Amino acid sequence: SIVVTGATGHLGKFVVEGLLEKVPAEQIVAVVRSEEKAAGFAARGVKIAVADYNSPETFDGVVSAGDKVLLISGSEVGNDRVGQHKVVINAAKAAGAALLAYTSAPGTLTAALADDHRGTEESLLASGLPYVLLRNGWYNENYTENLAPVLQYNAVTHAAGEGRVSSASRADYAAAAVAVLTGEGHENKTYELGGDVAWSFAEYAAEIGKQTGKEIANNAVTVEAFAGILTGAGLPEGLAQILAGVDASVEKGELVVSSGDLNRLIGRPTTPIADSIAAALKA
Ligand code: NDP
Repeated sequence: SIVVTGATGHLGKFVVEGLLEKVPAEQIVAVVRSEEKAAGFAARGVKIAVADYNSPETFDGVVSAGDKVLLISGSEVGNDRVGQHKVVINAAKAAGAALLAYTSAPGTLTAALADDHRGTEESLLASGLPYVLLRNGWYNENYTENLAPVLQYNAVTHAAGEGRVSSASRADYAAAAVAVLTGEGHENKTYELGGDVAWSFAEYAAEIGKQTGKEIANNAVTVEAFAGILTGAGLPEGLAQILAGVDASVEKGELVVSSGDLNRLIGRPTTPIADSIAAALKA
C-alpha cells in the first residue's frame, strides 16, 4: 500500500487525489486525525487510518511490510515536530516499509523554520529506511492566500528586499510526491523542489496590480519592522519572528531553488505565481 499522513491537509488532499488517478483506491491508506474530514476519501474506497503524531500507539498497525509511506510534515510549529515525525519513522521502520518520503525544506534554508526539517532528515537517515527527501520550496499559496491585506492597503509589505522566491503551487509539489510514490528508482534521493521562475516582491506587487487594475505598492521594510507589523496584526510574537526570519532568508536568496527537480519529476512546467494570483482573486 501507499500510506499518506496529513491526508486531510491542503497538500495531502492533492496527493491522495493524484494517487487515485494512478493506483486502485484500496491500495491507498490515508492517515488522518479526523475520520469525519476523510469521509469523502472513504466513500471512494480509500482506506482510512486514524492516528496522531502525538500518540505513538495510534500508529500501531498503520504501516505494513513493503509499504511506501509519505510523511507530510506536521503543522504544529513549536510542538517538537522532530519527535512527532520520529513516531512515523519508527512505525515505518518497525513494520518494514519499503520507502519513506518526507516533505522537507530547501537545503539552502537557514531560517529557524528549517530546524525541524533538518532534525527529521537526520532521524530518517539514521533509521536506515530507504528514504526520499522531498525538499519542498515555498508554496505560491503562502502569498496568494493572503491577498486580503494587500488589497486593503494596496501594498505588498515584506522584509525580503530584492530577494527572490522560486515558489510553485501545492498541486505541483503534490504531483512530485505522487511521481515518487508511484515510480521507480527514487530510493535514497534528495530532491530540491522549487518553481521554474524566481520572482521578486516588486514583481509580485506589479502582477497583482496588473490583475486588479489597482496601484499596488512594493513596501519593503526591515525585518524588525515586519515582525512588528505582524504582531500588530494579531500574530503571536514567536510566529511573527519565524515569518520575519523567512523574509530575511528570502533576501539572502535561500528560497531560490534552481535544480529543475520539480519540473523534471512532474514532467511539465510549474504553476506560475500569476496563475495562483488569478485563482485567489477568483475565489
Ligand atoms: P496543512 O496545515 O493544510 O496540513 C497539515 C497536515 O498535517 C494536516 O493534514 C494535519 O491534520 C496534519 N497534522 C498536523 N499535526 C498533526 C498531528 N499531531 N498528527 C497527525 N497529523 C497532523 O499544511 P499543507 O498541507 O499546506 O502543508 C503540509 C506541510 O508542509 C505543513 O504541515 C508544514 O509542515 C509544511 N508547510 C510548507 C510550506 C511551504 O511553503 N513549503 C508552507 C506551509 C506549511 P488535520 O487535517 O487533521 O489538521
